Amino acid sequence: MTNPPAISVARRGLMLVLSSPSGAGKSTLAQLLLKEHPEMHLSVSVTTRDRRPSEVEGIHYHFIKRERFEKLRDTGDLLESAEVHGNFYGTPREPVETALAAGKDVLFDIDYQGTLQLYEKMRADIVGVFILPPSATELKTRLERRAEDASGVIEKRLKNARTEIAHWEEYDYVLVNEDLNTTFINLQAILSAERLRRQRQLGLAPIIERLDEELAAMTA
Ligand code: 5GP
Repeated sequence: MTNPPAISVARRGLMLVLSSPSGAGKSTLAQLLLKEHPEMHLSVSVTTRDRRPSEVEGIHYHFIKRERFEKLRDTGDLLESAEVHGNFYGTPREPVETALAAGKDVLFDIDYQGTLQLYEKMRADIVGVFILPPSATELKTRLERRAEDASGVIEKRLKNARTEIAHWEEYDYVLVNEDLNTTFINLQAILSAERLRRQRQLGLAPIIERLDEELAAMTA
């Protein structure tokens, strides 16, 4: 006996927002997610911060000057924007809208200020996930291991971690990233469940209609 063909239901794209203090593992989780789910679209932010040696223009960020950032923000080309650790960051609007219109899920690595702005504009489309480090010591170790930021920068990021963590309750899900594999499995579980939300499954109506017709015929 052969299996019936898989039923794929047309779906509205979702916006998966990952936030955490710097060093909690958010970027690593985002990369793992994109590798496992290449159909997802990563929102590449603009930033005025200096490029780290390991970063590539257009892949990790679009590195731009402050004047350009202000122009983009003031002309409404950014979906959200914020100042983080003394630098400016923002989400270009157009690529996100194009991806969502094509039914793609979009992944965001942004801070709580940006998340709150997105909530105001498109709450129903957003799945907010907050990632916590298991301890302050572990957070510091991870920042130092990255070793791409000067020690003054690390200190600033640790101070800012308190502000960032204070916003954990604004998110739909919270993951304590003690073990990367476990956190990744849990993150994928969130994605799977959210993709199946009734409100997102736009193509259900014809399936229900057909089922009802078949059942009606069967029981006539
Ligand atoms: P980093 O400089 O370490 O790459 O990022 C610093 C912080 O800025 C991180 O918490 C990151 O999530 C956040 N961030 C990156 N891009 C954006 C953005 O487009 N908007 C907002 N609001 N935050 C961002």
